[in-house]
Amino acid sequence: MCDKAKRSIKAGLRNRRAILVIAMGGECEFCGSANRLEFHHTEPRKWVAAKVNQSTRQKMYEKEFLSGKLALACSDCNKRLGKPVSDNTKGKRQ
Ligand SMILES: [Zn+2]
Repeated sequence: MCDKAKRSIKAGLRNRRAILVIAMGGECEFCGSANRLEFHHTEPRKWVAAKVNQSTRQKMYEKEFLSGKLALACSDCNKRLGKPVSDNTKGKRQ
């Protein structure tokens, strides 16, 4: 694949991510911040973001959003919330 094609695919994925962020309200669900937004998984997921390519990751995020398993969180809240099955946060969000 040539560099130009790679670049345009990447740009497309960025757009899809941006659209998803907007669809989800465009701000952190926990503190209302619009800075450094990340996707927070409200349920344990079977896939590892680092192990799939960008395109698959984007599709997984969209799928999870549609099934209500994805929340928008700023980087601070996402860190604080941690993973859904971590021991010290267990039960906090129930
Ligand atoms: Zn936040």
